[in-house]
This record gives sequence, structure tokens and C-alpha cells, in this order.
Amino acid sequence: MPTVACIGGSMAYKLMADGTLSGERLGPQETPFGPSAAVYELGEGTTAMYFLSRHGERGYHQAPRFINHRANIWALKSLGVERILSWSGPGAISRKMTPGSVVVIDDLIDETRHRQDTFFEHGGLGFIRQAPVFCDTCRDALLAAAEKTGLLVHAKGVYACTEGPRLETPGEIRKLAVFGADLVGMSLAPEVFLARELEMCYAAVCYVTNYAEGVVKRPYQAGLRFEGMTTAGEDSAIAATVEHLPQLIRNAVETLTLAPKRTCPCSQAMARYRRRGDIGDDWRKWIEPGGGA
Ligand SMILES: [Zn+2]
Repeated sequence: MPTVACIGGSMAYKLMADGTLSGERLGPQETPFGPSAAVYELGEGTTAMYFLSRHGERGYHQAPRFINHRANIWALKSLGVERILSWSGPGAISRKMTPGSVVVIDDLIDETRHRQDTFFEHGGLGFIRQAPVFCDTCRDALLAAAEKTGLLVHAKGVYACTEGPRLETPGEIRKLAVFGADLVGMSLAPEVFLARELEMCYAAVCYVTNYAEGVVKRPYQAGLRFEGMTTAGEDSAIAATVEHLPQLIRNAVETLTLAPKRTCPCSQAMARYRRRGDIGDDWRKWIEPGGGA
């Protein structure tokens, strides 16, 4: 069974509809937090993976703040997944991150406000260190795969996660720039934090879809994508990058499937609680009062 999963972001539904991503549909998985998004099993051998489309199977039906992140992460853990790779399409605050370029982010600022962001509502668990934010082994695999595409790749970047569904104001983007954010999106928190709570590895590759509000001057154009925040040239660059995503992910999955057993901090995130006797070996019981100890 695969031990690597991919959570596909924007455009995953398009790649599924046109057959670029195809496999067996296992469907939504039941979890203590309700049903997950539909899970698929793709590929075979060293490129086998579970796949889940974050925003829907046939279109952008699920805005980030309404996604059941806990159900999605729990479902993948239940299937035996140890490592999660994801993609998302944020906007650029840094001008050097041009639309269509790829960023293997290494840090995150969580500006979300209304999300269920922990599994641990009982027991005082979850006081977990967040550096490195993303699994270095998974980041290395994504970076090597990204560099094979020939696209412009940035090996680092700070992603700010906003609540949405609306886009950010110019003032908010100026604030995030002061904070050191390079990119702004709505998808990766609390996904990355929830994965760590269940001792799963997580890393994300971003493809830049636009300049964030106010970074470049663009007139308001009703009825167009993001009301005119992108040019036609940028739209073609973005579409070309999206075509590379399935192979990029397959290459990274293969690297991780062939990688040695995990020794990264992610796999030991809850070790302190285990050692203290607060939780037992069955991770499914960690969310219960007493933690299954
Ligand atoms: Zn890891």
C-alpha cells in the first residue's frame, strides 16, 4: 500500500477531468470528524500514491476555509500514509516570484481565524515545536523534482495563509510583506499543523498564480479571473506550469518511496507525550480524554 499521499490544490480537478491524473476512486473516508474528500489511488510500484483534491473533484467547489482539513488528514493517516506532498497556487508578494514560477516553501505565517486547527481538544496535547515547519526530506524530494521541470524554481519562500474566501486588501498585503511573507494563499494552514500532530511528514510546492493585490498595478476588470489581476501572458505561463505538476509529484513520490525509513523530526513529534505516558501507541485514541495511555 502507498505510504505517500498527494493533496492536489487548484487545478487538480482539471487534471483529473482530462485524464492526466487517473486512478481508482476509493471515495470519501469516514473519520471522527465526518467524511473526508474523495480519496483516489494513483500510479503503481514506486510511484503509487493516494491522492485527494482539496477543492473538489470536478471544479473549484470548496473554498479553503470550508475544507474539512481534520477529516482529510485523518483519512490519509488511517490509510497508512506517512508522508504528504501537496501543491497550491498562491499569489506573489515578492516580485521575483513571477506567475508560473515554482516555490518549495520553507516557512509559514498563519493568518487564518475560523478553522478547526487541532486534533487535540482534550488532554493538553499539541504543544509542538514548528521548526522546521515543513519536512526537509520531503522538501528535498520536491525541490529535486521541481528542478527537473526546467521551470523557474525558488528553493525557499515564506507562505502566509489567509482566511478567505475573499482575496486580501492592498493594506493586508503590505502588512504581510513587512512580516516577511513572499507568497499569500489560503490552503496550507492548518493542513501542515494537523499532519504534524499525527506524526506525518508534510511539504508543499507552490506555483505562483498572480501578483498579490497592490504588488503590481492592474485595473479592475469585471468577469475575468481574479477580476483582472493577471495578464494573458501570465495566464499562459501558469497553465504551462500546471502541466508539469503531475510528473513533478510522481518524481517526488518515487524518491520518497525509495527513501530509507523516516528519521526526521515529524515522525517523533509526539514523543514527549508518549514518554510522559500521556498517550499510548494507538494514535486513534490520542484525540480521546486520556489519550489511550
Ligand atoms: Zn518528515
